[in-house]
Amino acid sequence: MAILDTSATAGQTPATAPLLEIRDLHVEFRTRDGVAKAVNGVNYQVHSGETLAVLGESGSGKSVTAQAVMGILDMPPGRITRGQILFRGQDLLTMTGEQRRRLRGRRIAMIFQDALSSLNPVLSVGRQLGEMFQVHRGMSRKAARVAAIELMDRVHIPAASARVDDYPHQFSGGMRQRIMIAMALALEPDLIIADEPTTALDVTVQAQVMDLLAELRRESDMGLILITHDLGLVAEAADRIAVMYAGRIVESAPVRDIYRRPAHPYTEALLESIPRLDRKGGPLRSIEGLPPSLLRIPEGCAFHPRCHRARELCRTEVPLPDRPAPERTSACHFWKETFGD
Ligand code: SF4
Repeated sequence: MAILDTSATAGQTPATAPLLEIRDLHVEFRTRDGVAKAVNGVNYQVHSGETLAVLGESGSGKSVTAQAVMGILDMPPGRITRGQILFRGQDLLTMTGEQRRRLRGRRIAMIFQDALSSLNPVLSVGRQLGEMFQVHRGMSRKAARVAAIELMDRVHIPAASARVDDYPHQFSGGMRQRIMIAMALALEPDLIIADEPTTALDVTVQAQVMDLLAELRRESDMGLILITHDLGLVAEAADRIAVMYAGRIVESAPVRDIYRRPAHPYTEALLESIPRLDRKGGPLRSIEGLPPSLLRIPEGCAFHPRCHRARELCRTEVPLPDRPAPERTSACHFWKETFGD
């Protein structure tokens, strides 16, 4: 089986260098019960103007990878043991704390899932947005207030000028998430990482927030990493998907292809567990078992205890990424069986 480029854009020939490139990233946490291996050799790339969805169940390592990019991992107990995180070709992991702080917000911004606990409850949203402009752009308070209203307009908060002095608790969950998006956009970063940005919202509001993110990404040339456990959510929003399991990327592909023809049994099982308009009839399947403890990742393919295609080889040998098609990778010994079914 060939050893190939494992990046989430493997096989593409992008015209430009990646905005962000993660190479062979390993992150572990020392706990009382042992070492939890949260990220085990992750590779992916994001280009300007591209949306990459990083998909996986909780504990798959998707958020830990994002925290490593942002430089907000708790260290200790966390530790980056290997790898590089190149932002416009510069390794973030060799930068000083001050250099990384300067990048945060200005060049790389993050949207968290829980807007209520991320916003300051005792400051109006206008103050919180305005402070970004005062601190980073040196604007006067008056000019920062005008810029805050413009930003609220941009993320479609109705009657922004009337609501600029309202406090976070006076907004609905969906509107608060729009404010979080506005804060991330304020300094016009090159890259936004949205970590489960719609988890706390109901389905209709989820769709509106996803539409907003897609619209904003189209308007600018920024890159967007969308971290989610919801395969149904990314169909419209992402260009590419990287599927993670037990700290590794098990499959990567353009969105349009992965829904039509998965090349990894885990992706296949995820797809069979969501309702789809293009497949009528038949029960939805759930994936048997639970994701492994990161303290005790199974030998061989980490997915083998839950995989209906597992064989003896899967219990002993870690599958290396192979390339089922030019823009795709699959880390499965028997990907042809899934791909060819
Ligand atoms: Fe399943 Fe084996 Fe492929 Fe792992 S390597 S996904 S256990 S078939």
